[in-house]
Amino acid sequence: MTISTAIQRPKVIIRHCESYDPEVIRGIIRESMEELDLRPSGRTLVKPNVVIADKLFPHAYTRSEFADGVLAALRDRDDGQMTELAVGERCGITMPTRFAFKNAGYPALFRKHNTAHYHFDEVSQVEVPLTHPGRLRDYVYTPEPVARADFFVNLPKFKAHPWTTVTFSLKNYIGIQDDRHRLIDHDHRLNDKIGDLQEILQPQLIAIDAIVAGQDRMLTPIPFDMKLIIIGNNQVAFDATCSRMIGLDPRQIDHIRICGERGYGPLDFEDVDVTGDVTFDEAKARAQGFRTGLIRVEKYFEGTKIQAYAGPPPEEEYTDYCWGGCPGAIEEAIEIIRNIDDDTDERMEPMTVVFGAYDGPIETRTDKERVLFIGDCAKWRGDIQTPSGGHFVSMESLYKERVHLDPRRSAFSGIYKKMGKAYWNLFRRRKEKAMRLTGCPVSVAEQVLYIAEMGKTANPYFAPDMIIGFNISYVAWKVVIWFRRLFGRKYQIERFPESERGNALHGPKAYLARYRPPNTIETPDIEPGHLSAQGDLS
Ligand code: SF4
Repeated sequence: MTISTAIQRPKVIIRHCESYDPEVIRGIIRESMEELDLRPSGRTLVKPNVVIADKLFPHAYTRSEFADGVLAALRDRDDGQMTELAVGERCGITMPTRFAFKNAGYPALFRKHNTAHYHFDEVSQVEVPLTHPGRLRDYVYTPEPVARADFFVNLPKFKAHPWTTVTFSLKNYIGIQDDRHRLIDHDHRLNDKIGDLQEILQPQLIAIDAIVAGQDRMLTPIPFDMKLIIIGNNQVAFDATCSRMIGLDPRQIDHIRICGERGYGPLDFEDVDVTGDVTFDEAKARAQGFRTGLIRVEKYFEGTKIQAYAGPPPEEEYTDYCWGGCPGAIEEAIEIIRNIDDDTDERMEPMTVVFGAYDGPIETRTDKERVLFIGDCAKWRGDIQTPSGGHFVSMESLYKERVHLDPRRSAFSGIYKKMGKAYWNLFRRRKEKAMRLTGCPVSVAEQVLYIAEMGKTANPYFAPDMIIGFNISYVAWKVVIWFRRLFGRKYQIERFPESERGNALHGPKAYLARYRPPNTIETPDIEPGHLSAQGDLS
């Protein structure tokens, strides 16, 4: 089978948008869809980034006014072929997505636009096989509405990220997995995982909320006024352009480079058509000074009450630092605590944290200060030096190679189980100089619990503003799961049939129907069933 010359050149449209006015946003998205010659069809699924939302986290998520404009534009462009308009997301783990949607103001949108909405943590998860070279495993799971989508709209927030430098469209795919599957490979191979998730499906439309972007980190970002909406039709071209806008070479951002090298889209500027009412240079000028994440944990905590040491994770041949796992999670955890209490750093008890196979000396600043080894791969042996002498400690690695983790059998414990485990562990080890926090990765939520308890800081889980709403949503989440089980709806579906998949581009090498990487010599075998949405094969 050969590919015709009708392969599209990826396009990125840069538009000025003064404020979060849904009508203005609607017009910009509608005009961009006209320019991209896109009309929604079949099951149309919109995936925003609502990782966390609350008045304490105002810049962490795709704003509801933005989604409002996009949903209206999709209705405007519908010529009768759209059978369902839906919004779906899995927010940050351990939190009910319905809680995040509510805090972000999304339920009013669902009513206004008469859309379905999917909490991805409350629907069945279906298996998607992977066959591409370099994959981490042979199948991944994704929520059923994602697998069934005919027209997929990716609606990220323009943000920095401590694990992956930035989070634009490619990284927004972490939210198309539920908790138990999201954490698998969310470690030093996170960038490869993001690459693998691209096989699940590709969006026809991408629109990023860069009206007020978020710099420094992803859950508690510092606002950065850009007054931009960026629209595109190819994720690599899109992310590469956004990276260049903030002065970064996309080849130096691993997940973007990997997706580009795998052929999902072009990394080079000259292979992308950039249009819009804001020139690329003007957009670059607006983005000047935008700060990204990716700071090693030792440096991040320099001069604070937390002293950090980090050694390499397993599979040292890939990297000497676990960018996708525990060290980045503690940076987000401390910012959440700081967010609810401005005096955190003054009031906090000093503590030392250790990651990976660190092999240098460990020294505490006071006799009382304890040492927390974070993550299954943390290991160390020797005398911890304190002002009054040495304490011998021996920590062996508990890390299990990824081949032993099976997505079909993965389990996940909710926040209350985590809390119980954390408090029991802290109580049992209260007299020990050093203790371990198990997991690979150890989530932001667990690290918040340990830091709050050991550092004697405020605990966000007990913040009065959150506690009632969180618990109502949590109970509703569990009741929905329980009812689904009662009526025989499986939570996890193995071998989901290809005939049930939607028309959004997916499957081995199917991305080549829209973009052929330079120097592609081999003609790929593309199954016609994967191409009904926008491939043009002959
Ligand atoms: S335990 Fe944590 S630091 Fe170690 S490999 Fe896993 S995610 Fe990375």
